[in-house]
This record gives sequence, structure tokens and C-alpha cells, in this order.
Amino acid sequence: MNLIMFGPPGAGKGTQAKRLQERYKIKQLSTGDMLRGEVSSGSELGQRLKSIMDSGELVSDDIIIEIIANCIAEPECQKGFILDGFPRTVAQAQALDDMLKNMAREIDHVIVLNVDDEELVGRVKTRAEESGNARSDDTEETIRHRLTVYNEQTAPLLPYYKEKGLIRNIDGMAAIDDVSAEIESIVSREKAA
Ligand code: AMP
Repeated sequence: MNLIMFGPPGAGKGTQAKRLQERYKIKQLSTGDMLRGEVSSGSELGQRLKSIMDSGELVSDDIIIEIIANCIAEPECQKGFILDGFPRTVAQAQALDDMLKNMAREIDHVIVLNVDDEELVGRVKTRAEESGNARSDDTEETIRHRLTVYNEQTAPLLPYYKEKGLIRNIDGMAAIDDVSAEIESIVSREKAA
């Protein structure tokens, strides 16, 4: 089973992807986590990535597409994967389609977590306050910019996947457990079918 967790920053994609990973033993692939790993390695690439991420802009499609292409070819993704934070542009979605086609695989569901903008800003600020090592892109100004980037570059993927019949809308304002239950019902229903 191959899933895409879709939604703006702070919608709960990572939290839900981790739960799905546990439950279905399919691999969570968070591009944000991978990029932060590269940043903390202190490499020259990491330094370049950090300044882009801190500005709230997107890292170039080429870099991200290469990372994902390598990951989904790994044995640990054989049973399936949960893409968390990818694709974020139409070019990334098209590249993903090409990769999957070559592997004779496909996306089963695009799970969209819908959350109001003001709630998102509040959640990310709370994440920054509560986390021991706050992310440097979790400041209010950057969050607002990340939301603009989401609306301009990532939201256009919704019609792209709608046309493919893959969109599963979820109320991301609900409690975490309720969101998980709703995702679970979609995923298990389709699996049984
Ligand atoms: P995230 O943890 O998913 O919110 O990602 C944090 C930051 O990493 C984003 O604001 C982007 O700068 C970068 N990033 C993560 N995933 C992608 C992607 N698929 N395409 C481009 N940039 C990304």
C-alpha cells in the first residue's frame, strides 16, 4: 500500500504517518526529516539547504526527486510507503508518477488533512514552544510564508490527484485519535475491497 499524506505545514502529516507506519509496517518517508538530517550532518549541501528551509521556500525539485527515487527503490519500501511532505510541486508529482510507472507500482490514496490557517499557525507555534530543539523554520513569520508557498505551489496538486480519483479528504481539525480512526477506515476499507 502506497500512500501520500497531504496538507499544509502543521496539519499533522508526520504524526499520522508515524502511526500508519506502526500499524501497517510500511515506511514513512518524510522529506523534511531527511533534509534536516542532511543539515545536521554539517555538510556543505546541508548549509545550503538550511538557508532555503529557514526562509520557508522549497528546496529544488531535482534534489528532492533524487532523494525520493533512491528511497522508494530500497527493500524497506517493498511493502509500501507513506510519503510525508512529498510531492510539493506539480513537477515532483509528475516525476513520482514516472518512477512508480517504471516500477509497476501506484499510489493507492492521497490523504488530505484539512486544517484552518489560523489553527495551523497556532499549532506550529506550540510545536516550537514545546519542542526541546525547536525547528528554526517554526517562527510565526516563516510559518506564514510556508503557508503561502503551500497555497501557491502545493495546493495545485489537489486537482491533479482529484482527476486520478485518489483524494480522500479528512477533517484535520478533529482530535488526533479521531483523525487516525478516519484514516484507518479509509485504508482498511479499500484494502478489503
Ligand atoms: P516539512 O518538515 O515537510 O515541513 O519540510 C520543511 C522544509 O523542508 C520545507 O519548508 C522545505 O523547505 C523543505 N522541503 C521538505 N519537503 C520538500 C519537498 N518535497 N520539496 C521541496 N522542499 C521540501
